[in-house]
Amino acid sequence: MNSDIMRVRILRALVCVLTIALLTTLVIKPKFDPSANGSASGSYTPGTYTGVANGFGGDVEVTLTIGDNGGISSVEITGANETPEVGGAAIPILKDSILEKQSADIDGVSGATITSTAVKSAASKALAQAGGSASAEGPSFTPGTYTGTAKGFGGDVEVTVTVSESTIDDIQVVGDHETENIGTFAVSMMPDRILEAQTTDVDAVAGATVTSKAILLALQDALTQAGCDLSTLPSKPAKDNVAKTDKTVDCDIVIVGAGGAGMTAAINATEQGKKVVVLEMMPYAGGNTTKATGGMNAAETHYQKEQGIDDSVETFIEDTMEGGHQMNNRDLVTVMAENSASAIDWLDSIGAPLPKVGFSGGATNARIHAPEDGSGVGAYLVTRFLNKMDDLGIEVMYETKATELISDNGTIVGVKAESDEFNYTINAKAVILATGGFGNNQDMIVKYRSDLKGTVSTSAPGAMGDGIVMAEEVGADLVDIDQIQLHPTVEQGTSMLITESVRGDGAILVNQEGKRFTNELLTRDVVSAAELEQTGGYAYIIFDQRLRDGLKAIEKYVSTGITVQGDSIEDLAEQIDVDPSVLAETMKTWNEAVANQNDAEFGRDTGMENDLSVGPFYAIKIAPGIHHTMGGVKIDTKCQVINTDGQVIPGLYAAGEVTGGVHGGNRIGGNAVADIVVFGQVASDSAVKYCDK
Ligand code: ADP
Repeated sequence: MNSDIMRVRILRALVCVLTIALLTTLVIKPKFDPSANGSASGSYTPGTYTGVANGFGGDVEVTLTIGDNGGISSVEITGANETPEVGGAAIPILKDSILEKQSADIDGVSGATITSTAVKSAASKALAQAGGSASAEGPSFTPGTYTGTAKGFGGDVEVTVTVSESTIDDIQVVGDHETENIGTFAVSMMPDRILEAQTTDVDAVAGATVTSKAILLALQDALTQAGCDLSTLPSKPAKDNVAKTDKTVDCDIVIVGAGGAGMTAAINATEQGKKVVVLEMMPYAGGNTTKATGGMNAAETHYQKEQGIDDSVETFIEDTMEGGHQMNNRDLVTVMAENSASAIDWLDSIGAPLPKVGFSGGATNARIHAPEDGSGVGAYLVTRFLNKMDDLGIEVMYETKATELISDNGTIVGVKAESDEFNYTINAKAVILATGGFGNNQDMIVKYRSDLKGTVSTSAPGAMGDGIVMAEEVGADLVDIDQIQLHPTVEQGTSMLITESVRGDGAILVNQEGKRFTNELLTRDVVSAAELEQTGGYAYIIFDQRLRDGLKAIEKYVSTGITVQGDSIEDLAEQIDVDPSVLAETMKTWNEAVANQNDAEFGRDTGMENDLSVGPFYAIKIAPGIHHTMGGVKIDTKCQVINTDGQVIPGLYAAGEVTGGVHGGNRIGGNAVADIVVFGQVASDSAVKYCDK
């Protein structure tokens, strides 16, 4: 080929390429498509647009600014509640990706799938407002059934979803290891929420966030397998701003709070023929009671007698007073101790026996009563209380929050409450406050104990101190309000409480140097204080396979992944970065102490039935966490609420953690359940009598 022909051909090819390029720019203007790769620059309407989607810890908000050239000129992402080191760390990377790709269709950050999906979805919604159209077309699926898995609170959660071309038709969730009466509520409630909204952008069930998020994550996995672009799923349905309707309900007794005290009161009052209404702000019952893992203290019970355990009401009273630094109201303690054995009989009578008797911190004798099968006492009781309430036809108004007590010239005659739809006036002859403590209300914690600011809390979400505030508004006095208990064995990452029974059954605490530093079964405040003095303010709770085999609660710790396991003591020590020879020596000394029933080092004399010699061995890193608010509303021995002048407030009763005085400066393990069952009964007995007057 001669060089002239060659030059002409190159020139023609160049012109051709240039023409195509020009035509492409003029004619094929890029259209918004969040699912398309590459730049969509130049296609949006200038302005600022915000999209919101559900992240790991709450809403994730993406605000995009579209410049005059129609491209994305800036990206702001807020997700204050994303886990800082996971979702939080992913946010700047996702922001850069959106800017770089000029699109919402970016790669997620590995390990931060929920936050990534939320950012993509929120960005996609913002772009749709800026002139995009693809997300308006909705999602598409390859019809079929798909299964996704994600890690829940106690192990894997499996979600099986059935989809047709554009709709999610069915969802089945299996989460056998989720916490009874907490995670299990999410397992039963989330599928309906998702099916109704047809999106993964739905609210988690409050208090069961980890399980809820696992369900959403597993669902996203399954939907991705179904070929769905998750960013095309619809946004969270906006809450209707419809005005609430007023509604009036009449009853004999309104009980505020469906925790242990409230449910006991409801059952007892209904059995005496009263019409009871129970208000519960959460979508489920149980409160902090569900979280009680140890058992219930009671003295002179038939179980103790049958098991040859010598105990007395007097010793119970003295142990409680001593544990509470003699700050307790002795009259209330006496009521609790004297009625504890009959409360155990009452639990028998409603199908909730607690026959397993053991030792617990601060108790002279074996007094803590637990379920036969070793399951956590709280969830066990809540299930049985709910069954009994069902049998009796007791109405619980869930997601209904009491806001105010109704006073008629100083006599309490009802409660104002609200749900999403209604403003309620509940007229009643008597009101029982059973709203629990304020361990989950950081503002109140800081108000009464600024030194505890930021401390991890084991409390349920409803422990917001509402009852205390409402009672104060009608003149109630408060007692010991600054007495807040730290529990010494709380795993800090999950706020999971390691039940006292682990120490009661023989576990020991060691510091980072591998040494014991306290009698592990001293009262909670003393053990917590001792931990805070150790290197880093934490410790390890150490136990063996025999102890694990005897205590069901441990399975939850293992499946949650907070336990470290070693075939030998040395192996365990290495994994927790403790000097193996020191830990081996500590264990040898402890096992000798158990053999001789003599702890020469720290004087421990309970929970020494078995040594720690059967491998594998286990450790959980723990530190103190807020566990119980001992102070609260002042009551007398009939659970009548007392005002600041020392007078009874007629019509108002309180029981359980909302009250102060029973536990003084420190609650001993096993006394919370004794408190709620005994005083739940006393409050309802008093309210019933008051109604009959
Ligand atoms: P206790 O151990 O004293 O029974 P719990 O913490 O077990 O206390 O139960 C208290 C219950 O009260 C929780 O279920 C909580 O959600 C509920 N609660 C708290 N405040 C309110 C409120 N304002 N209205 C309705 N329920 C409430």
